[in-house]
Amino acid sequence: TSRIPEKWVKTTCGYCSVGCGMLLGVRDHKAVAVRGNPDHPVNRGKLCPKGLSEHHILAAPGRAKQPLLRKNGVLTSVSWDEALDTMVERFRDIQKRHGNDSLGVVGTGQLLTEEFYTLGKLVQLGLRTRNHDGNTTLCMASAVSGYKLSFGSDGPPGSYADMESADVILLIGANIADNHPILCHRVDRGPGTKPRRLIVVDPRVTKTAMMADLHLPVKPRSDIALINGIAHILIREGLINYDYIEQHTNGFEEFANFVSAFTPTHVALITGLTETQITETALLYGRAKSAFIGWTMGVNHSTQGAVTVAAINNLALITGNIGRTGAAPFSITGQCNAMGTREAGFTSSLPGYRKFDNPQDREALARIWNIPVDRIPTARGLAYPDIIEAAVQGKIKALWFIATNPAVSFPNYKLLEQALRSVEFLVVQDGFHPTSTSEFAHLVLPAAIWGEKEGTYTNSERRISKANPAVPPPGEARPDFDIFLDIADRLGVKAELYPNWTSPHDAYQEWQRVSAGRMCDYSNFSWQQIDDANGLQWGGESLYRDGIFPTTDGRAILHNVPCDPFKEQPDAEFSFILNTGRTVEHWHTRTKTAEVDLLNNMVPNAWLEMNPLDAANLELKPHDRVTVRSRRGAVADLELRITGIVAPGQVFMPFHFAETNSNIVTLGDFDPISREPNFKQCAVRIERT
Ligand code: SF4
Repeated sequence: TSRIPEKWVKTTCGYCSVGCGMLLGVRDHKAVAVRGNPDHPVNRGKLCPKGLSEHHILAAPGRAKQPLLRKNGVLTSVSWDEALDTMVERFRDIQKRHGNDSLGVVGTGQLLTEEFYTLGKLVQLGLRTRNHDGNTTLCMASAVSGYKLSFGSDGPPGSYADMESADVILLIGANIADNHPILCHRVDRGPGTKPRRLIVVDPRVTKTAMMADLHLPVKPRSDIALINGIAHILIREGLINYDYIEQHTNGFEEFANFVSAFTPTHVALITGLTETQITETALLYGRAKSAFIGWTMGVNHSTQGAVTVAAINNLALITGNIGRTGAAPFSITGQCNAMGTREAGFTSSLPGYRKFDNPQDREALARIWNIPVDRIPTARGLAYPDIIEAAVQGKIKALWFIATNPAVSFPNYKLLEQALRSVEFLVVQDGFHPTSTSEFAHLVLPAAIWGEKEGTYTNSERRISKANPAVPPPGEARPDFDIFLDIADRLGVKAELYPNWTSPHDAYQEWQRVSAGRMCDYSNFSWQQIDDANGLQWGGESLYRDGIFPTTDGRAILHNVPCDPFKEQPDAEFSFILNTGRTVEHWHTRTKTAEVDLLNNMVPNAWLEMNPLDAANLELKPHDRVTVRSRRGAVADLELRITGIVAPGQVFMPFHFAETNSNIVTLGDFDPISREPNFKQCAVRIERT
């Protein structure tokens, strides 16, 4: 069969938040090829291995093709009518017996903005439960909370273009070579480009660290001390922007006093770096005309994630490295639409970055939606980890997961399993079945995925891009949007919440009205304009160009951030610190990438990295099979990689694999502000399997 496409459909990658533009090749109604879109400003024709093989997921054998309802213990094919009637009946019955908040719903940054917006209204206004969150809480909630702490609102202030303009790029806990590979092309100094310095802060010698001019192999969770130490040197050396501090920030005097204790000697002790490394970093950052700080999960996946983000923002604020070209504190997001779901809200905020506790914000929404204002909740419900905890405690009796696979991605697997087993009714809506989570379900709803449905994604740099359908979904799978509207119809709220809606475009047009005048204003961008332009950025290339922040007095806030030791320090019994992370070939829990032979054959199994000194002490050899054991459980049969990538006393394993699930051993502690899990840093011991 020829695999030469008959047509190319312009779309956007559905994996990560880089947001690469691509062309999806179609022949005989099947997706047969993918190419990078050469006209797209983000990736300029390039794609990473996941993007290049993305068409393979569409007709993969693991696609969910029909609704399945558990009958006599067995998941059995049923019609959509039976599936959705049962779902609505069970939810209603449970809510009648136990209250509206006995239902918990977890969506995802894989959904299109139009779908997430539609879902938010359905859950909060239709089903009337406040317990609605996204799997994005496992990913970038700390960035959201940190931005709110410093600037009064979420919203990454910079753009990828800043990486090309910056004199200095400081990446903290961000292994972009594996996780956001196309951004390496924006960071790398190609011929004829402006020389710049790349500094990478990471306990591992990652592929990104190998690109750096200066790699700072900090001890786990000592990044706050390093950041405070850099601030100390900047203030001591006068490498700060006094005018900016004076005009646009609050709290400088207390902050300067606070960081005075973070001398290079003190910081060297905490971080394991040399005083020279710390000072050189501070001087490079402070002397740069424009300096960019990027971070991802090394910062966010921590019980101190939100305040670490605030500490990073401190550096940008005291040097005035914000609101201008090449200068930003920039959270590189995780999923393809993590930003769109942040903006369209109904999780940590109301749509359009509105606040639950702000009466004007609620009234504005009530007017647009034509509903009484008291229908809109005055406080957010439970965040994702608290939904799981409430299910274990029996307070939540029904769960609905959409395009997410918590049985691999949620920390502390045992607790999660208890939650999945304890609820009366578990609905899993996904493009794939079986997954580690759908195996527990009472009801499986087969959903269309990227390439089969229409809407928009918003990437890390606030660029709204169009995702277009190229092929029909398999079997009876339906777009999530259609499923949500069908449920609304059965609940009797469709006419009220979605008047005359027939397609995601109706959702988009309402979202344009809801976002109009807000920071994340989509009102001037039609679908057509977005598609024609290969994506459009709300807020332009930089936010806060005027130095005015959405706080009560318009000033950003400097925070004093102490560096707390992490909870589970190594001891005689569990002597290693485990770090977890990703590899370029796989996407999160491998629901999709395990279906792509090209990727799966490259990396079929998990592994454990250990330093040669530790391996010698334990008399282990390369490729030995080992077990990682923590106080919570053990993961056996990992291939041992003996490598200087990890420092002595530390080990690393990827988190993608259900069979060797790192979350059997991870800590299950959460950031008190963002509720993001601490996936990094727990104490383990290593045994021969
Ligand atoms: Fe897709 Fe991200 Fe790879 Fe780009 S870098 S092709 S958006 S997975």
